[in-house]
Amino acid sequence: MSFHYSNCVPKGDSNATEDILKAAANPKVISFAGGLPAPELFPVAAVKKATDKVFDQFGQQVLQYAGALGYSKLREQIAAIMKTRQVNTTADHIAIATGSQQAIDLVAKMLINPGDVVLVEDPTYLAALDVFRSYGAHLIGVEMDDDGMRMDDLQQKLADYPEAKFIYTVPNFQNPTGRTMTAARRQEMVKLTHAAGVPIVEDDPYGAIRYAGETVPPIKHFDHHGEVVSISSFSKMLAPGLRIGWLTADPAFLQKYTLLKQNADLHTDNLTQYIISQFLMDEDLPAHIKKITDVYEHRAKLMLAEIDHEFPADVYHSQPEGGMFIWVQVPGGIDSDELAKRCLEANVAVVPGSAFYSGKAEPGTFRLNFSNMNDDQIKVGIKRIAKVINELGTN
Ligand code: PMP
Repeated sequence: MSFHYSNCVPKGDSNATEDILKAAANPKVISFAGGLPAPELFPVAAVKKATDKVFDQFGQQVLQYAGALGYSKLREQIAAIMKTRQVNTTADHIAIATGSQQAIDLVAKMLINPGDVVLVEDPTYLAALDVFRSYGAHLIGVEMDDDGMRMDDLQQKLADYPEAKFIYTVPNFQNPTGRTMTAARRQEMVKLTHAAGVPIVEDDPYGAIRYAGETVPPIKHFDHHGEVVSISSFSKMLAPGLRIGWLTADPAFLQKYTLLKQNADLHTDNLTQYIISQFLMDEDLPAHIKKITDVYEHRAKLMLAEIDHEFPADVYHSQPEGGMFIWVQVPGGIDSDELAKRCLEANVAVVPGSAFYSGKAEPGTFRLNFSNMNDDQIKVGIKRIAKVINELGTN
């Protein structure tokens, strides 16, 4: 007997990124490959206190089954958070998900039939590409520059693919590039997609983690027709292990979402929803976020300074104003998998750019994570990468 897997399961067993992450577990390797928040910043004592309080006050309730849209109090608190982000919304527009990853998965499941066109930024978040592929999407990349998705290319792609089901974007400190889409482009994007009748799925787990520059309103802020589904999460501003994310969308959309949410897991873990709700009542979330951004600002600035000092001048790097990632492109057309392999041989791990493209990858690209490494690791790791780049340049 053998299993005949569905088309949801990727074909083949090899996975270049997974191989790198495995190799990066070697203590000799300095890893800029992961995408993990800094664990020393997790508010362990405050979460423990909130948990004790929840058990004391709501013990039986939190251990019981609950509604698929999520804990009503937490949905109200999230609506208030969205208001601080200039999205004027109410709790009936909020649904809880088990991490924003589940929101991406369920929204994709709601909208994609096999063969449907989905527009994505090129490059974009790897695990979203995997989700869209698993539902049989035909992915079409939209080009980016340092100001995020290019509107001229979006206009072209909307004209070429008027049947596109939706467009997926990570507008703030994008994974993998660290780039942010300007407010003017967000406004234009809503206009263009409205005219084309193509909805937007905005994925914004990093927006709160800004340490420089001006805050830019979410794309949802510019949406007056209920055509933007905005996804966010507590993973980067609190703790990813809690697995609480949310969607902001019209109630009619959320009603359909509820049906698939029930199929997936009935509802998100009730206890964790109450814990976050209690945390939000008792603690100062903006003060906690400030602690995170201060540390990430220091690490990002250090990594950028080391890059500027060590890498040849013709190597491109992005200039993130928040989030966890820097994007690098080495000129000369070297295959990004080969470049990442050479880095690993030099005991430093990066994720090759090839992982993040819907189609053909830009050569010489890779993603660096700075949130999870200390100063010495950043300094030594960047020197190791510089040596690899210099060796390649002299070959
Ligand atoms: N979207 C993006 C762009 C991400 O980078 C991540 C996490 N790496 C997620 C969604 C998923 O985050 P979570 O499920 O923890 O909210």
